[in-house]
Amino acid sequence: MYDYLIVGAGLSGAVFAHEAAKRGLNCKVIERRDHLGGNIYCEQVEGINVHKYGAHIFHTHDKAIWEYVNQFAEFNNYVNSPVANYLGTMLNLPFNMNTFSKLWGIRTPAEAAAIIERQRGEIAGEPRNLEEQAISLVGRDIYEKLIKGYTEKQWGRPCSELPAFIIKRLPVRFTYDNNYFDDRYQGIPIGGYNKIIDGLLDGIETATGVDFLADKAGWAASAKAVVYTGMIDEYFGNSLGELEYRSLVLDTKTLDESNFQGVAVVNYTDAATPYTRVIEHKHFEFGQQPKTVVTYEHPSDRKPGMEAFYPVNDERNQALYQRYAELAAAEPNTHFLGRLAQYKYFDMDDAVASALELSRQLL
Ligand code: UDP
Repeated sequence: MYDYLIVGAGLSGAVFAHEAAKRGLNCKVIERRDHLGGNIYCEQVEGINVHKYGAHIFHTHDKAIWEYVNQFAEFNNYVNSPVANYLGTMLNLPFNMNTFSKLWGIRTPAEAAAIIERQRGEIAGEPRNLEEQAISLVGRDIYEKLIKGYTEKQWGRPCSELPAFIIKRLPVRFTYDNNYFDDRYQGIPIGGYNKIIDGLLDGIETATGVDFLADKAGWAASAKAVVYTGMIDEYFGNSLGELEYRSLVLDTKTLDESNFQGVAVVNYTDAATPYTRVIEHKHFEFGQQPKTVVTYEHPSDRKPGMEAFYPVNDERNQALYQRYAELAAAEPNTHFLGRLAQYKYFDMDDAVASALELSRQLL
């Protein structure tokens, strides 16, 4: 009998398993996919660590979380500075003086602030959705060129029907600073994310290609408690209806050139281009390989057999999630952890924090 059965070998499950094992508890981790690591899993192609499930850039403001992940790998000094391609014009992200200057031909923060101030005037009162939030943050020009098309492709619905918090993830700066994140700590693990997962799960029994839900009762009986990191609605057999998740179709190609786009991430912010981002993986680690690997990210509704990437935290889904959360709270000996089980738009540092919090509560 295990002390803990951990369902899902992504970052959340691996951190919890590590903490439990560190305290001498007997754990097993089972994973439906044929590899460990969940969405931070990387695959080596042409000597390049390819982020198999889209770009993952670790960033946090929390020193303790930073030190936690640094136990397992040294991090490089990569700073995410993506560039937006809007109908062929290259504009810096996040929204900063480089963006404003190129867009409006201005030079100073005061000039940029005056333009934005004028444009945001069209929103009165508290923004009620992503569209209003975006216009009130950066004005209509930037909303139309850098936000609307990208966001509607990414989420598959109008910005006026999306929650405002999604856009608050992005900083707006009146300095010439292209660093996408405001966080104090940032980087990519040298040697790839698999090193972190391997470190976390070192010495712990794992099994891949195993579907917990195919024999929920049987698996649950194998341990005193379960930590479940899969989709919460699936756990309950979708009994209250399906929660929506956005998925991605990732189209990865190896190119016979050394430097395709000169930066790790280019966002395509117009509505017509079918993909949202092109990732050139080698730039995460300053690679000098003769070839390059690029991934085109096509957002999509999640259809059967596709991975769930993003919870859709609109009102309808949020209300449904609350009802599942009530079922979850009443579920004996099962704890729900991570982006899919907590139905929350966690970044990696949030996932680590949430797993550490659960281990403090339980262990
Ligand atoms: N976003 C945008 N334009 C961009 C990049 C992002 O409008 O060029 C918006 C979009 O709504 C997206 C959100 O900001 O869903 C959060 O972007 P982030 O880069 O944090 O998304 P992730 O990396 O988690 O997919």
